[in-house]
Amino acid sequence: MPQLTQQHSKTQRAIDLEERYGAHNYHPLPVVLDSGKGVFVWDVEGKRYYDFLSAYSAVNQGHCHPRLVAVMQDQAARMTLTSRAFYNSLLGEYERMVCEFFGYEKMLPMNTGAEAVETALKMARKWGYQKKGIPAGEAKILVCEGNFHGRTITIVGMSTDPDCQIGFGPFTPGFEVIPYDDIPALEKALADPNVCAFLVEPIQGERGVYTPADDYMPKAIAACKKHNVLFIADEIQTGIARTGRLLCSVPDEEQDPAKRPDAVILAKALSGGMYPVSAVLASDAIMSVFTPGTHGSTYGGNPMGARVAMEALAVVKDEDLTANSERLGKVFRAEMQKLVDQYPFIKLVRGKGLLNAVVIEERIAADGSPRSAWELCLLMRDNGLLAKPTHGDIIRFAPPLVIREEELMECCRIIASSVQQFA
Ligand SMILES: *Cc1c(COP(=O)(O)O)cnc(C)c1O
Repeated sequence: MPQLTQQHSKTQRAIDLEERYGAHNYHPLPVVLDSGKGVFVWDVEGKRYYDFLSAYSAVNQGHCHPRLVAVMQDQAARMTLTSRAFYNSLLGEYERMVCEFFGYEKMLPMNTGAEAVETALKMARKWGYQKKGIPAGEAKILVCEGNFHGRTITIVGMSTDPDCQIGFGPFTPGFEVIPYDDIPALEKALADPNVCAFLVEPIQGERGVYTPADDYMPKAIAACKKHNVLFIADEIQTGIARTGRLLCSVPDEEQDPAKRPDAVILAKALSGGMYPVSAVLASDAIMSVFTPGTHGSTYGGNPMGARVAMEALAVVKDEDLTANSERLGKVFRAEMQKLVDQYPFIKLVRGKGLLNAVVIEERIAADGSPRSAWELCLLMRDNGLLAKPTHGDIIRFAPPLVIREEELMECCRIIASSVQQFA
């Protein structure tokens, strides 16, 4: 165990403490962050970086947005938690705002993403028995290869990533894994009358911003409607303007319920990174399967979360973050494409809006040292930009959506010079 002495740098001391006292369930990039503002974060040594992870798209509104800080401070001094044993003065307003914002009739508030996914799964099963007439205990839910929906036992049980799963069984039955971005496979699985729902990410973020064909979402929605199966979009990472739309699975202007997801799961940017706030949105008819006592959460729908989420959504609208994400996403991919064209080891760029990834070739340099996504991320860190590698060969680039074009261009120059050093 390392000795924790004053001689250590602040950075090393913080890392040593986590190493010594924290469970080792993450492998962070070695940088210790201490403060943030908008698109920037500062480490404990005072060095400034562009944040190109945005806490996995939770901080779409930028770090410590002044409007969010203000309502947090105000609400913290007024009231934070009532439980749902009583009504509170903000929950109804918040529920109305979220429903109108995303075009749904009802919402159910939870805290983390995984809890909202669990809520949607419970909702889908109960709907399957009550409304679709599936025999008791037979309901089946379809999920996709390469999915990421969170970390509960049920959710990791339907994962196809061995790291998520091995050693945590036995798992919840009633799930079938089908290939992603594959309409014929979906059609085939939907033929089973016991299927109550299809749970899918519009882009698979954790898989490495794995982006399906443009018509995958509309076709999958239509196929589910045809078979009376709920289409549930996990928009925890892709939603709330991240991909240049409010929801990635459906264009903002699409009003026809027959062409929209039956249910949508939101979390992450729903609170702009201030506080864990999640929600499931659905129609009246679907949400009515929940009755008093059938589901709940002590913190779900609390006044603090409701207040900050309302402000977080208002910021998305007032600052037109969908349009900024759509426009700058195109700029970013065009700049990255230049690197793809120039360097054989930069294989491709993919994504939508400001949720993008670059796939690199894992190499060994002439001096025998590795050249994987991790090493490139360390170089970018040294050059003032933070991004996180996944799967050894993929780097996700997801800055706060408040980024301005000249800042984005500076970031593209940082990435390009890092790639040049990496060659
Ligand atoms: C982050 C994420 C989750 C889980 O959210 P938590 O708040 O970490 O539980 C679920 N689905 C997707 C697509 C995510 O990106």
